[in-house]
Formats: sequence, C-alpha cells, structure tokens
Amino acid sequence: MEFNEHLKNIEVYEAGKPIELVVREFGIEPKEIIKMASNENPFGMSPNVSKAISDSAKKGYLYPDDSMFELKQGIAKRFDISSNEIIIGAGSDQILEFISRAKLNENSKVLMNKITFAMYSIYAKQMGAKILQTDSIHHDLNQYLEIYKRENPDLIYICTPNNPTGDAISKEEIYSFLENISSETLVVLDGAYMEYAKLKDKAYFVEPKELISKFPNLIYTGTFSKAFGLGGMRVGYGIAKREILENLLKMRPPFNITTLSLLAGIEALKDEKFVTESIKANFVEMAKFENFAKEVGFDYIKSYTNFITLLLPKGYNSSIISDNLLRKGIIVRDLKGYKLNAIRVTIGKPEENSRFFHILKSIL
Ligand SMILES: *Cc1c(COP(=O)(O)O)cnc(C)c1O
Repeated sequence: MEFNEHLKNIEVYEAGKPIELVVREFGIEPKEIIKMASNENPFGMSPNVSKAISDSAKKGYLYPDDSMFELKQGIAKRFDISSNEIIIGAGSDQILEFISRAKLNENSKVLMNKITFAMYSIYAKQMGAKILQTDSIHHDLNQYLEIYKRENPDLIYICTPNNPTGDAISKEEIYSFLENISSETLVVLDGAYMEYAKLKDKAYFVEPKELISKFPNLIYTGTFSKAFGLGGMRVGYGIAKREILENLLKMRPPFNITTLSLLAGIEALKDEKFVTESIKANFVEMAKFENFAKEVGFDYIKSYTNFITLLLPKGYNSSIISDNLLRKGIIVRDLKGYKLNAIRVTIGKPEENSRFFHILKSIL
C-alpha cells in the first residue's frame, strides 16, 4: 500500500517512558518509581485545579466551548494581549503541527538548532520540507544568521530555554537576530520553559506581547504542561498577530481540547502562587544536582528549565546508565538519540532527588 512518501524519512517519536511500563517490565511497585523523564511538574497541579476537574467530571459528556472564550481571556490578561491574538492547541505540540501544515510544502526550508525539540523536524518532514540545522549544541544565532542569508528558509525555530539541553538565549541576542529576518519568514519562538527562565534570570526572559509587536512575523508558543503541571491535560497556546493566526485557525479541528482540559487551564491561570512556588523549589533542588555533578565528576549544562542535562565523562555510557536507573525504578531520558553521551533528568521533589543521587552513585 502506498503512503505519503515523506513518511519514509520519519522515525516514530519516542516519548519519555511511562510509570506503567516500569511496573510491567520490572515488577516494581508504582510508588517506588520516580519519573524524571518528561519534565512534568513534580509537585503536580494546583489543588484548585484538581478540585475543579473532579467537581466537573460530569460535564465530560458536553463538548467544550469551542470559542475557548474564558481560557483565551485568562491568557490575554496574563500577557496583556488581545484574545484574538491567541490560538489554543492540545498541547503546544498541536500548535507546532498547525504551523508546519499551514506554512510548509515540498519546496520549503526549515531552520532549527542541531539539538532541539524533536517534533520540529518530524512535523517539517511530514510536509516534505528540507531541514537545515546548525552544528553547535547551543543556539548559535550567528550561525543561524549565516544559514538564513544563504538558504532563505521559510520557517525558523528558536527554542529558548531549549529542550533537551536546558540552556537559554538572552533577550538581547534574540532581538538583534530577529531584526535581520525578513517579514516573509515565519519565526517560531518556543517558550515551553519561559516561566522558569523568567524567574531564574530576567535577561533570558522574552515577552510575547513585545515580541509580536516588534516582530509581526513571529509566533510565540507556550504550554500548561510544564510549570503549570497540566501535562496530562494537553493544553498549549500560540500567540501571534492576526494574519498568522487566521491561517493557523484553518488547521484547527473543532473541540481540539477537552471540556475538562479547558477548565483546568482556566483554573490554573488563577493560581499564580502555585506556579511560582514550584519554580522556586525547582531551582533550590537544581543546585543540589549541580553539586552532585561536581562531586561525581560529571559536567552539566547550566539550565533555565525544570530539568538538567548531565554530560557523562568518557568511560560511561548514557544508555547503560539510563537502563540501570530504570531497573531501580528511576526513569530518565537517555540523549543517545541526539548523539550526546548524556542523560536529561527532570528535577523532582526533594526526597525523589535524594533517592536519585543515592541510586546513581551506587550504579557508578
Ligand atoms: C514539552 C515541550 C513542548 C510541548 O509540550 P505540550 O505538552 O505539547 O504542550 C513544546 N516544546 C518544548 C521545547 C517542550 O519541551
């Protein structure tokens, strides 16, 4: 049977392993398992949100308000923008998919960092577009510019802070790069971890409002999956000027997030304190990872997110270490697939992190 020929170039995306798999394969009790592989908020979600979800479970038989009026109003208020500059997706992943389908075809070129969020290239390949990548681990915007001038790509991805490396680009650098980009080129700024960068160092924080008014060819994407703790609810958003959004809206199926997800997003925005406290705790715990790395002789990438990438010295193999951790109930992300001998570890709760340090030491 014939399928879209571009699919031949795509490898199926492998998500972080779920707790259920470790239970099945190693017979470990769910409460003994620590999931540090998908950058969820280890503190869960705001209690107000979980309460709202349970109280409204019975509404699951109704389709959601497809205008997503209240959620858009909440996001608009948070970012001081207009509701009609917002599109909602089932995770920001779905926004990335809309962007790719709306902008790309077989003749398109897409520029992205060498090591970055895997879905950018998967969505681009689905459209048969050509992928251009830099050759440095960290976003080197000078190199971006060089490739941009030579290749004139249709779409550019900037992921800051970047996943799976955790590093970020300063606002100053981003702005001076964007000033060189033609208004015909669509730029995606993926801010999935922006809440973390904002709290860690203001110089690395960029605001959607200012971004889209200075650069109308840019779309900012954000998510409720990370700092807000709603990974399982699948709510994300894109923020852009009307001309861009009108095209993306043509890609959106009706009712693309669930009635309960919509409600969860609305409630989550009302509990800023929960988000701020989680982020503060995250960076207190991150310092322990940095100390641990120094103690055992690992390098790490300075992180502006809720995860840290530990670079393993010669003699250690990231796949073997990940596998050994898994057998002890700790799920981390092996970065072998990105050609890095490294593991990406989501910062957990204090007691989870202590256990991680203890078990990893026993493996080394
Ligand atoms: C987690 C993540 C997303 C999207 O997550 P959703 O759950 O689909 O909102 C997008 N970009 C990056 C860089 C991420 O790490």
